[in-house]
Formats: sequence, C-alpha cells, structure tokens
Amino acid sequence: MPSPNEREYGGFFRARGDEDVPQTVILVPITARFMRVLSAADFAVDFNAANPTDPQFFIHSETTPATNYGYLSHDATEFIINSNAGGTRIAGGPLGVADDVSIELGTDDDSVLRHRTATLAANTALTDVLIGTPVSAATPANSLLISNVTADGDIAFFVVSAAGANSEEYIRLDASARALIINEASVDLDFRIESNGLVNAFVIDAGNDSVNFGSAGDVAVFMTVTPGARSSAPNLGVGHAVDINTSTFTDSNTAASGTATGSNYVAIAAPTIAATNTSVTHTDTATVYINAAPIAGTNMTFTTSYALWADAGITRLDGGIRINTTSANAHISEATSGTGTVTHYIGNQTINTTSDKRVKNNITPWNGSALDWVSKAPVLKEFNYNLVGGGSQTEGYGPNARGKYLGFIAQESIDWAPWAINAGAGKSCVKCINGEPCDEHALWHVEYQHLVPPLVQAVKELRAEVDYLRSR
Ligand SMILES: [Zn+2]
Repeated sequence: MPSPNEREYGGFFRARGDEDVPQTVILVPITARFMRVLSAADFAVDFNAANPTDPQFFIHSETTPATNYGYLSHDATEFIINSNAGGTRIAGGPLGVADDVSIELGTDDDSVLRHRTATLAANTALTDVLIGTPVSAATPANSLLISNVTADGDIAFFVVSAAGANSEEYIRLDASARALIINEASVDLDFRIESNGLVNAFVIDAGNDSVNFGSAGDVAVFMTVTPGARSSAPNLGVGHAVDINTSTFTDSNTAASGTATGSNYVAIAAPTIAATNTSVTHTDTATVYINAAPIAGTNMTFTTSYALWADAGITRLDGGIRINTTSANAHISEATSGTGTVTHYIGNQTINTTSDKRVKNNITPWNGSALDWVSKAPVLKEFNYNLVGGGSQTEGYGPNARGKYLGFIAQESIDWAPWAINAGAGKSCVKCINGEPCDEHALWHVEYQHLVPPLVQAVKELRAEVDYLRSR
C-alpha cells in the first residue's frame, strides 16, 4: 500500500498515529495543499494558485469562482479565516466568544475586547489587555475590558445622525493627549447627564456653547444653575443651590518672608457689556445682581431675611456704597461725587446734614433762656468714663486707647435735652431708664449735634449780658 503522500490525489484516510482512537482525516497532496468546494460547472477553472505552505480549505462562489472565495487555514501561529473578495459575515445567530477570550483587532492585536470573569486587582497587568504597569482601579468579576495597547492609539466612537450619511465623532479617548473628549470634532452635539430626578442634571449645549446644571441650554447665558425643588434639614452653613466647601489654597510662589498683593478664593472680573448698535444706554448695570432676599414659602415665617449676608469678616467696599437709590447724594465713600445729602439711618438715628427748611415743619420761635438751659446741664465732671468693650487704655488702638471720655450720659440728660437723646422705644422702660440690662430695647445715645444750636443761643445771651454790663 503506497504512502498517502505518494498518491496524486488526497482523500479520506484513517490516521495511523492515534491507533487507540482511530480518526478520519482528509489528506491533500504535498505538491498542492488545497481542498476546494466549488460548483461542478466550474471544474475547469484555473485557480492560478501557488502551493501554500499550510493546507487551505477553500469555498468558491458560483459567480466568479476564480476570484470570489473564502478559505480557512492555520499558519502555525493563528487560525485564519479569509475572504478574497468582500468581508466575512456571521449570517445567523449570535457571534459568541467564550469567557476570558479576547477579541483582538489589528494584525498586531492592537485593540482588545475581553469579558473577564475574575476580579482584577488595581494596577495589575493582564496579558494582551492591560500591559506594562497598568494604572487602573480594581475591576470586579464579569467585567468588559476594552483596551488599545498601541502606543498613543485612541479609542473613538462614531455614529451617523439622522441628518445625513456623514459619520460624526461623539467620544474619543485620546491617548497622546491623555484625555477623554466628547465632541472633539466640534459639531452641534450636546452632552447630557440625567440624574434620577433631573432630565438635565448636567448639560453642555453645543449649539448654544453653554454649560448648564439642572436645565437645558440658553444661548444668552454661558452657565445656568437651576436647582429645582430641594428639601432637607436647614443648615445655615450650606448653600442649597450652590455650595462651595472649605478647602485650602497654598501660595507656592511667594518667597519666604515675601509679600504678595493678595489672594482671592472666588473672583469675578469686571465684564465688558457692549452693544451691537450705536449709542445704547443701560440705566443700571451690575457685575453681580441679587434680586431680593429669600421669599418665605408655604408654612414658613422668616424672623429676618437678607439678600446678602457676610456672617463674619469685614466687608470691604472700595468703591463705596449707594443706599436705596441711584443718586450720588446717597453715596457713602471716601470721596463721593454727590452734590447734596439724603437721609440715611443707623437704627432709628438719621445721618443727614441737611438743614433745609423744606424738611422741617411746625417751626415756632423759642422764647426760653438758653443760659438757663445750660445751667441745668447734668454735671459734667461726674461723666468721665471708659467705653465698655472699647479695649484697654494701654492698647495702641480701640476707642479706649484715647483715655477717658468726657460726655453726657443719655439717661441723665433726657430730661434736660430730650431732643438730643435717642432712647427709642426704651424711653419708658424702667430697666432702660435705670441703665440696667434690657433685652427688649436698644441702647440710648446722645446726638450731640442737636446741642449746638442752643449752645450758640446761650453764647448770644452771654454776649448780650456782657454788652449790658459794659454799657453801665
Ligand atoms: Zn428697656
């Protein structure tokens, strides 16, 4: 019996090497290691083929059998499925890949998909999937791993929108830039994250070039924050719409013992507001605008509410402040451009230098003696004092650094000069009258400027008496 290799044609044989499990094999000639399936009508086709190193199994098309075929082979490294024309398609059923088996893409297996059944510890290599010394978090069992192991090779996601037949890039994992980028190609492609209760928890509106928290985009606004309804225990130190938590900023630049101009935690630069058309006027503008103090809603009563509250620390207003009006006359600063005054209040005390006749009524002549009035003044020598809370006389600053004060005591002076004593609602309170602690009323004070007119009058009366005495 001749050796199979000596036969011109191969065919079915019983393999000899595995006698305990006899197996049927198909042998192809060493001089032409092909096995082909083709239509009988094509038996005369010239395949124009060179003898391959490894046996190959071909299936030819009926239409153009010489050029349209697929084949299977193994080149000692990999099992190869190839198609001479067109691609390779699984025409029915799912294409399954077993657990922990990679789908490797690229001749050099550059990109990999693998369903891994076991957990993978952080920073742990996985052959052909995570190479080198990976920088990775721990991955739980039954995870899909997608990896591109080519240096600087990206992973990108594209789709064709309904708008046309053009592919558009949505997501890119840019290896050379070490960045995850949405919409790097810059088209009108929104990025939206939906929370449990908010459809638009976070939206980057590409068409409007806006960033939005809690709402869709608005072309006129770069960033919107729309918190929606929230509920929790009240907390004075927590912003319920926007909360900036504590953190530490470290000056890593200024030299030891050096001085820098300062530092800010939240800074807002002056914006420029321009107009498309010429000669446009805005009556009021602000870099930061607060509409109003919070509004008490259902079941709620506020004791007090503020539109702006700095709970601690000095509030510095280098440009001055303007109270309740746009008029420069209501401007408080080191150098105001106002040409008059308006009435301001601290508590119930007015700050107003206006002595205009038009702000006064019930004007009647005073026929009393200013000298008599002065003689009844509370005895000043008893009223030599330090101020409570004014610090020590030995300190270099604070009200008491000046030493002791000479002045009137409001309670002692109210009968003498009631128009100059601001006692407020405590005027009839026994505690206030006696100078005892009182939780109900504000402290009294003397408005010394109201003592000036009668003192002037007293000087006039003294002058008259001097003139009289001289004339005798
Ligand atoms: Zn009182």
